[in-house]
Amino acid sequence: MASLSQRRAPAFHGRISILKRRFPLFKLLIYVFCFYCYCFQIKSSWIDFLIFLQKASSSRKSLKRSIASVPVDEGLFLTMLMKIMNPKKTLEIGVFTGYSLLATALGLADDAQVTAIDTDKEAYEVGLPFIQKAGVDHKINFINSDAESVLTKMLDNNEGLEEIDFAFVDAEKHKYKEYHEPLLKLVKAGGIIAYDNTLFFGLVAQQEDTVQENLRIATNGILELNEFLANDSRIEISQISIGDGLTLCRRL
Ligand code: SAH
Ligand code: CA
Repeated sequence: MASLSQRRAPAFHGRISILKRRFPLFKLLIYVFCFYCYCFQIKSSWIDFLIFLQKASSSRKSLKRSIASVPVDEGLFLTMLMKIMNPKKTLEIGVFTGYSLLATALGLADDAQVTAIDTDKEAYEVGLPFIQKAGVDHKINFINSDAESVLTKMLDNNEGLEEIDFAFVDAEKHKYKEYHEPLLKLVKAGGIIAYDNTLFFGLVAQQEDTVQENLRIATNGILELNEFLANDSRIEISQISIGDGLTLCRRL
């Protein structure tokens, strides 16, 4: 004998189908509702910390660059990549409120360290409570400075030479190329340098004169970097079309 829910289902679905046919907006709402139910089912508690941090970043009106954080899929990719690589020492250049940093730290072993560099301490402090709640702050060494001087200092002091397993670069786009030479000295053979935003909203494929003027320096910086990386025999590259484009460079 059919159960009560089985007997009721056809009538219920019939009514929903009529509503969906008659009201396209209703159809859209059903999809949105189902999507959120699905996301709710698959999220696990550590993903919650990423969600909370993201919300805190966007709710701060003074922090206009809340869209600067990597998107969710890229964050989860970073966590997964850390779990696969199991690095002991990593670097992050360009932290903002710490979304990619938290995603990275969540994937690191308990005794691993990420040195995170940013000129903007105020932004980092927005995300810090969530990093602390996630219980990964002990893996982070935040340096409030510009990346250029930190990298120069590390090289001058012979600090961390060929010791870094993974570096994530996500600061000013026109400076990426400047970081490449020092990073090649710091990252060990087999290690990864990951450059974010290497598709730069698709602007890399657009004629220069059609690119908005305020985005030209960054776009040209990324174009120069992409060409340079493609011809650099010291690395192997993989351009991943996740988020705004992520180029993984494996040091040979
Ligand atoms: N990786 C972050 C987003 C970083 S946004 C995330 O996905 O969550 C870019 C950051 O780079 C900004 O916070 C900015 O302050 C920082 N930045 C810009 N120039 C820098 C420099 N020269 N050295 C270090 N950080 C820099
Ligand atoms: Ca980015």
